[in-house]
Order: sequence, then structure tokens, then C-alpha cells
Amino acid sequence: MPAVKDILRTMDYGPAPEANAEILAWLAARPRFGHFIDGEHADPAEGGHFEVRNPATGALLAEVAQGSAADIDAAVAAAKAALAPWQALSGHARARYLYALARLLQKRERFFAVLETMDNGKPIRESRDIDIPLVVRHFYHHAGWAELIESEFPQHRPVGVCGQIVPWNFPLLMLAWKVAPALAAGNTVVLKPAEFTPLSALAFAELCREAGLPQGVVNIVTGDGRTGALLVEHPDVDKIAFTGSTEVGRLIRKATAGTGKKLGLELGGKSPFIVFDDADLDAAVEGVVDSIWFNQGQVCCAGSRLLVQEAVADRLIGKLKARMETLRVGDPLDKSTDVGAIVDTVQLERIRSLVEAGRAEGAVCHQLGAPLPKEGLYFPPTLVTGVGPASTLAQEEIFGPVLVAMTFRTQAEAIELANNSRYGLAASVWSENINVALDAAARLKAGVVWINAANLFDAAAGFGGYRESGFGREGGREGLADYLVPAADVTEAKPVRLRSVDFSAAPAAALPEAVATAPRFDRTAKLYIGGKQARPDSGYSYTVTDHRGAAAGQVGLGNRKDIRNAVEAANKASAWAGVTAHNRAQVLYYLAENLEARANDFRDRIATLVDGDAKAAAAEVEAAVARIAHYAAWADKYDGLVHATRSRNVTLAMNEPFGTIAIACPDEAPLVAFVSLVAPAIAMGNRVVVVPSPVFPLVATDFYQLLDTSDVPGGVVNIVTGERSVLAKTLAEHDDVAAFWYFGVDDGASAVEAASAGNLKPVWAHARPVRWTSPAEGQGREFLRRATQVKNIWVPYGE
Ligand code: NDP
Repeated sequence: MPAVKDILRTMDYGPAPEANAEILAWLAARPRFGHFIDGEHADPAEGGHFEVRNPATGALLAEVAQGSAADIDAAVAAAKAALAPWQALSGHARARYLYALARLLQKRERFFAVLETMDNGKPIRESRDIDIPLVVRHFYHHAGWAELIESEFPQHRPVGVCGQIVPWNFPLLMLAWKVAPALAAGNTVVLKPAEFTPLSALAFAELCREAGLPQGVVNIVTGDGRTGALLVEHPDVDKIAFTGSTEVGRLIRKATAGTGKKLGLELGGKSPFIVFDDADLDAAVEGVVDSIWFNQGQVCCAGSRLLVQEAVADRLIGKLKARMETLRVGDPLDKSTDVGAIVDTVQLERIRSLVEAGRAEGAVCHQLGAPLPKEGLYFPPTLVTGVGPASTLAQEEIFGPVLVAMTFRTQAEAIELANNSRYGLAASVWSENINVALDAAARLKAGVVWINAANLFDAAAGFGGYRESGFGREGGREGLADYLVPAADVTEAKPVRLRSVDFSAAPAAALPEAVATAPRFDRTAKLYIGGKQARPDSGYSYTVTDHRGAAAGQVGLGNRKDIRNAVEAANKASAWAGVTAHNRAQVLYYLAENLEARANDFRDRIATLVDGDAKAAAAEVEAAVARIAHYAAWADKYDGLVHATRSRNVTLAMNEPFGTIAIACPDEAPLVAFVSLVAPAIAMGNRVVVVPSPVFPLVATDFYQLLDTSDVPGGVVNIVTGERSVLAKTLAEHDDVAAFWYFGVDDGASAVEAASAGNLKPVWAHARPVRWTSPAEGQGREFLRRATQVKNIWVPYGE
């Protein structure tokens, strides 16, 4: 036993283990778990059981059921049957169930914290002080949303049965992030926990029974990736919400393509942690500890790339090395442990092999000197220097306690380095200068930015990524919207009768005689790229017919090359995003004005092409003018929010443009549909590459004369005519296209969704016809929501 004076000299910690007898007793009473289906324990239909072990000791904790197709069928059927009665409850009644769950979780906080630590290996300090309190907060917060859903989201309905798949790094917290909003919005769920960490979800199932939650509202099916895949493929699932690796996210994107399932993906990251030379370095060091050494670095938003301004790099690295030596790695149940065990040998091997690959490339690894525990799965906190932006360790998500440090000289270089990643989940910015910090926050491509802070989460703020970190948000008002669909989505407009188009290539000047009442110049409409009319790369055109079947003109037959040129032009026009919203509104008003001035021309054109009905055509032009004015009005009013998060922060939820949006127009209402899609996208600061209806492309090509005369900068709207499905596929595969809106009742949406898996661009696929002239269907907030992605910027205040 050390004497008090020895302890005072070393200031060392004694062991402070958290008691786990209760958990052991709970597990002993449940050596084999079944699934939780329709409110009951359910033995696996055929899959048998697998072992779940404590990564810190290797001890067997339990045997858990492997979910098979029959189990998923049963769970989805239970969720489907529970939908109608659950939705028939008032929001207030649903709120009471969520509130009951929150209360029960709160009463068992200690139980869940210890169970989570034993199952996952994370330090008890983290599960006790972060994971479980946030779980409780999520249920309370969403109990409130259940209460408000009808008044705050009018004209919306729940999505239906939600399949939810969560990873092992925050097992119960990810469950809460998914289950609470789904239930609040009136959905029912089938959740599959991660194979390594299913126990807290199974304990939560018991709470659902205790809370008297109606049967089938929450179902939990355990198993490995195969079980997850079965859930994804189930035809009665209306939405998939997934958190996990980008690779599996891609598989899910492909598997759900064309099924009409709503999809939310919260994927990997390689988040930058940027330290400017005026930062409080000691605070930044603590930020690093909370960022990359939190949960052993197994955090999707971990600040794994340290970018430090050259002037302070040596000092910061020195401080970090010193701080690293004070980290205590060991028994996760010990209350003084900072860094616990890695979740599984598979993950430990992955970290080891990536670090070895980095070493082979010349990376210098500085690791904690103290020995690691002899038993259990541990990896030392690691600081890597001597890497370049392209090296493996700077690009790959390691998902371990490994920080990669690089330096920069100027702010511009810092932003360039930070954004040099295929991911875009989070970023942390350290500077005492508010101008520098906020400017960086605005320019970073990330869904969450913490200023002088790291890894702050709250139920009131949305969380989710840009780029290959996925799409959709969890938490806050923006997260809830992902569990709802606009009610207008379900009204059935009359399907448009598709006229077949003959895309046979013809030389550009070969306009058939039928429409030539007098000798005329070549009337082949060109493409419109970068503010200029452009000949199609192929040199070919196709003939467009009028409503009687007579040739009405020719348009360019665009190809891959034209699409690439159009995307390049759109990307070059990025200044549009920086133009003030007031100025964008002015440009749109000007466009509306110019369309009105040419109303008769457009009326005649539409009538000739569509059905000869001049009155209907005039009404369409009028609706199009109003539609543009509508979005001119919105341009400076689609505000973000300041979220009321729990700690002392101003949490700004900013609506940001995606960048370049690809738009494939439908065949109905060729003018008003075109402007209904283009106007909201550009009003929000996006640039667009539009493929107009192949049946009526002449309406769109007439439109570029308006763009030319309305001060729309070149490259903001690009129009490529041709075969929609062919052009759409190229756009969907293009990595510089950030989002895709596919409106067409053909089966092109399915190919677009599958092809979008490359850079995981969100696809708004709308396979139902829309009554475009109706404001209820053809305009509104949903278009603006789809035109933006929410960035949450956390600005702490106070000393
Ligand atoms: P996965 O993406 O494989 O797992 C996430 C969840 O998806 C788990 O429940 C998993 O089941 C399930 N799953 C696996 N395959 C499929 C499939 N084909 N269809 C549907 N669901 C599936 O992550 P891993 O756990 O395998 O970790 C691998 C790497 O992913 C890590 O090293 C890390 O880099 C990254 N990762 C990122 C996370 C993030 O939040 N960004 C979270 C977890 C991991 P099961 O657990 O049974 O395999």
C-alpha cells in the first residue's frame, strides 16, 4: 500500500473500478438473447447464436441471435402492422411514450453506462458522462417534437416502416439518434445493432416493454452484416437510416436504388482539426484529447487530421506529446481511465495495418510510452508526423487513436488542406480571432464545425455530412424532416402520356421541310454551357415534333463530353454561392420580368409542342412567371436557425448550397416544371446542369435567351439537350455533381440512384407526376430544403 507522501509525490491514481455486479447478474439471467419482435422476446428462426465478448478482458458476455430472413420478415411485418394504430395516436400520446422511455433510461443511467463499457470497451467516464446522458436527452427532446409535429410540420406524414442500422462505436447513442426521431414523427422501426455491441439495444428492448410501448413500434433484430442487408432489401421497409462505413453506405445506396425507399446515410470522416497561430494552444491540446483520443478514436467525426499553422507547430506538437504521456490507457471500467479498449480484434488489426502502411510510406509515429495492459485489445494513442496530404494516413479513415499532423502557412492553404478529402463530416477550428474562425467555418466543406471546441453533440442540433460522409441529418428540426415526407408526395397527378422521341442523329441543318413555310436559316437549338451557346460535341442533332407529329425543330444531341463541359462550367461559376441573397433575388425577378415580356412567344411554343391548347399554354407561362417570382422572394428568406443546444453555445444551423446540382426535367408542363426546378436551386446559390424534357427541349432552349438578358452569370444555368437517361447517367457518375434531382416517370431514377453511389450524392428521385402549375405541389419549402444542406456551426461563449 503506498504511503500518502508517496502518492503526493507521484500524484498517481489508485484503481477506481466501477462496480459491474448488477450487469453480471443481468447477463447471467440471460445467457442467450433472442430478438425483440412485436413486443416479445423471439428466438431466432434459423440463424442460431453468436458470442459477444468484452474487448477489455476477452470474457464472454452473452450469446446473441443471428437474424435471418424469417426474423427480418417477422419484425418488418410487426412494424407494418403497428403503423396505423401508432399514427392514430395524437402527438401528445406519442410524446408520453417517448417521455416514459427517457425517464426509464434516466433512472438506469448507471446500468446502461456500465453495460455499454463492458460491451464496447469505452471508458466508463465517457459512457457515464457523455453517451448515456445524451441518449436520455435525445428521448426527452424528441418527446417534445412528438408533441409539436402536427403543428410544426403541417402537410407532412411519417415515412412508414424505418429500417435502422447502427455501428458499434456509440451503440445506444446511435440507437437513440435513430429511434427517438422516428417514433416522434409517427414511424415504426426495425433496428439492427452492430454485431460487436448489441447488448444495450437488447436492454433497451426491455425498457420498451416496461414503458408499455405498443407492440411492434420498436423491433430489434440482432445479427451481422447479412442481417443488415436483409433489412435493407426488405420490400416493406420505407426508409433506411444507416450509420457506418462509407463502403457499406455505398452498398446500401445501390441496393435501395429504384425502390423508392427514403435513405439517410451517416458515414465516415477524416475530419480536420485546424489550429491557427493565434489559438489558445493549451485549450487546443485539450480539444485534441477530446477529439481523437475520445472513444479510442473510433468516432466518425474524430478530428483525425491536425492542421497547424507553421509558426506554432513545434510548440503545439511539443505540448501534445507531453499531454499524451499523461493519458491513462487501461481498464475501461476504471473511472480514471482516459483511453479504453478497441472494440474487436478485427478493428485492432485494421488500425495496426494502416499505421504500418503509414510507417512504410515514411510517417513518423510518436506513441504513448507507458506499457499497455497485457490482456485485452489496446492500441496506444499515436501522433503521426512527416506525412503529406496524399499519404495513406492523411486520407484513410483509421478509426483508432491515431492523429496525423500537418502544417500550413496561410488561411487559404489551411482550407485547401482541410477540404482535400473525399469526406466532409466535421471540422474543428481554433483561433481567438472571430473573423478568422467564422470565415474558415463558412469555407469548410463539412456538416458540423466546432469553433474552439470539438465533439459537441446535442439532440437539438443536426449532425451529418457533406460529400462522401453521407447525407441527411440526425438531431434537431433538420433531422426530424428526414423522418417525414411532404403529404403532397402522395397525391396522384394524372400520368403524362409519354410521346416517344426519335433520337436518330441528323446533321444539324436537316430540318424537315414540313415546317418550313419559307426558306429559313438553320434553326437547330444548341446547348447552353457556361453562358454561351455551344454546338454538341457529337455534331449531331435530333428532330423534335409538335403535337400533331410534324417536325418542329432540332436540338443538339448532347453526350458525355458535353455533360463534362457543362459540369466544369458550373463549377467555375462558384462565385454565385457567394453573391448576396438579395442580389440573387434581383436576378430572379429580372428573369421573371423578361419571361413575362416574352409570354406570347412561350405560349405559342408550348401550345404547338404540347397539345395545341393556347389557353392552357398561357396559363403555364403565367404560372412560370409566378414561380420564378416565388423563389426570388425566397432567395433571402430561407433562413437557418440558431439551435437551443444544451451547453453554452450559439449553434448556427446554416442552409448552404450543395454546389452543382444536376436536374433531369420531367415531360409534363415543360416550362413551369423547368423553372420550378431551376429557380429554387439557383435561388439558394447552387449552379445547375439541366437536362430538359427530351420531348419538349425547345422550351428550355428558348429559355437561354432569357438567361442571357437577365444577368444570370454564365455557368449558373447550363442546359444540355439529348437522351435523358444517357445524360443523367453521366451526371450521376460525375464526382463534381453534388446532388441530383431526377424528375421523370420513366425508370431513369433507378439508374441514377445506383450510379450516384460513387460520390454518394443525394438523389431526389421523383417517379410520380406532379401538377406543376399547382403551387401546392409545384413549389414550396421542400424544394428549398432539397436545394440546401445544413451546416451546424458551434460557437461556444463565456470563459
Ligand atoms: P460497417 O459499416 O460494416 O457496420 C455498420 C453497421 O452496418 C453494422 O450494424 C453492420 O453490421 C452493418 N452492416 C455491415 N454490412 C452490411 C450490409 N451489407 N448491409 C447492411 N448492413 C450492413 O462498419 P464496421 O463495423 O464493419 O467497421 C468497418 C469500418 O467502418 C471501421 O473500421 C471504420 O473505419 C468504419 N466505421 C465508421 C463508422 C462511422 O460512424 N462513420 C461507424 C463504424 C465503422 P455488423 O456490425 O454486424 O457487421
